[in-house]
Amino acid sequence: MNTKDGATAPMRIRTDLAICEQCDSVHQRGPLAAGEAADCRVCGATLYRRSRLDVDAMLALTLGALIVFVLANVAPIVTMQSGGITTRAWLLTIVVRAWDHGVGPVAAIAAGTVFLFPLAQLTLYLFVLRAVKRPTRSPGFVEAMHWLRWLRPWSMVEVFLIGILVSIIKMSSLARVTAEAGLWGFGVLTILLTALSTFELRELWDAHDD
Ligand SMILES: [Zn+2]
Repeated sequence: MNTKDGATAPMRIRTDLAICEQCDSVHQRGPLAAGEAADCRVCGATLYRRSRLDVDAMLALTLGALIVFVLANVAPIVTMQSGGITTRAWLLTIVVRAWDHGVGPVAAIAAGTVFLFPLAQLTLYLFVLRAVKRPTRSPGFVEAMHWLRWLRPWSMVEVFLIGILVSIIKMSSLARVTAEAGLWGFGVLTILLTALSTFELRELWDAHDD
C-alpha cells in the first residue's frame, strides 16, 4: 500500500477473521474456551482451536523441556560392552564420530534436528512467552515468532530416538548395549516438544496483541 508521499504503509492484518482451508469461506473469530474448536458453518471443517494449555502452563513446559534437554545431552545415551571394553556414547560424541568417519552431511543433519533446532525452538518459546506476559509490547517479538514458525517442523528428536533404538537392536548381537539416562531424557523431551507443538502460535499473537 503506497501513501501520498510514496512511503510504504505497514499492511494491517485482520486477526479477527478466519478463512476455512477447505472451502475458502470467511468467518468472524469468536472467543473459545480452553480445549474448544471452532468449525466452519459451510463445510464443517475445523477452522481453529484453542489449546488446553495457557501461557503459564506453556512457560512451565518450556522450562521443563530446557532442563530435560540439558540433562539428555549431559548424560550418556548408551553404554556398549564388547571384549572387556566399555564404551559410552553421548549425543554430541556420536555426531563428532559420524563427522570423523566421513559422513559429514549425516552428522550435520543430526546436529541440527536433534541439538540446534530444538535448543533454538525452546529458547524462542521462552522469549515469546515472557514477551506475552509483559504488559508492554516487546521488541523482537515478531521476528522471534517468524523464526519459531519456521523452526517448528525441523526439530525431530523422535526420528533420532527411533534411529538409536534400531541401532541398539542391531548392535545387541555384537555387544552388550545398555540404554542410559540420556536416552530416557530424549524420550521425555520428545513428549514435551509434542505437547508444546499442540499450542497454536496464533494464540500467542492474540495474547501479545491484547
Ligand atoms: Zn469450510
